[in-house]
Amino acid sequence: MSKIITKDSIRKRLLIKRKGLGQDVISKKSAEIFENLLKIDKFLHAKSILLYLPINNEVETRKILDYSRSKDQEIYLPAYFNGKWVCSKFDSETDLISGPYGTMQQPKKSGQIEGNLDLAIVPGVGFSNTFVRLGYGKGVYDRLLSESSATKIGLGFEFQILEDIPFEPHDLKMDFVVTNRGVLSV
Ligand code: ADP
Ligand code: MG
Repeated sequence: MSKIITKDSIRKRLLIKRKGLGQDVISKKSAEIFENLLKIDKFLHAKSILLYLPINNEVETRKILDYSRSKDQEIYLPAYFNGKWVCSKFDSETDLISGPYGTMQQPKKSGQIEGNLDLAIVPGVGFSNTFVRLGYGKGVYDRLLSESSATKIGLGFEFQILEDIPFEPHDLKMDFVVTNRGVLSV
């Protein structure tokens, strides 16, 4: 009898594994992921980038943030206002307030992107070799980027990449997945 693999069972397994990572491992692998990200021209040349600040042992983004600032790339973060997630311009860490799920976000509904983002760098619970992204099960990024033409780059640790993940029509597909081992591109 074939076993039906659900998104939820994959989520649970991957989240338990990620929870068990030590801070030193996360930092080391995140630094390797940053080095691999630098191999993507679309990252180097992007003018506007949606980034995230990690929660729950997600890949760290500190080095990405510092690099992008040094290159004067505009950084946006997801922010939740009036029941909706939007991309909000990020200026200073000191201004951030708590958002849903332990995230940090811009305090005011201002500085939303005009037109389109060049690039979106997103965390994930898992990614497949076929560029499907698995999130926490809330569909946050599926909704946030459903209309976006941004190049989408998922960041994950090597163990988060699976052969296959169930795909639904609303699911966001990645253009690149970057791990500590290298870059997968469509
Ligand atoms: P995740 O992407 O976080 O892993 P799912 O893909 O399972 O989560 O989606 C979670 C929920 O969000 C689903 O019930 C799905 O129908 C809903 N959803 C996702 N994208 C959209 C969308 N663009 N519009 C409306 N609902 C959506
Ligand atoms: Mg989804």
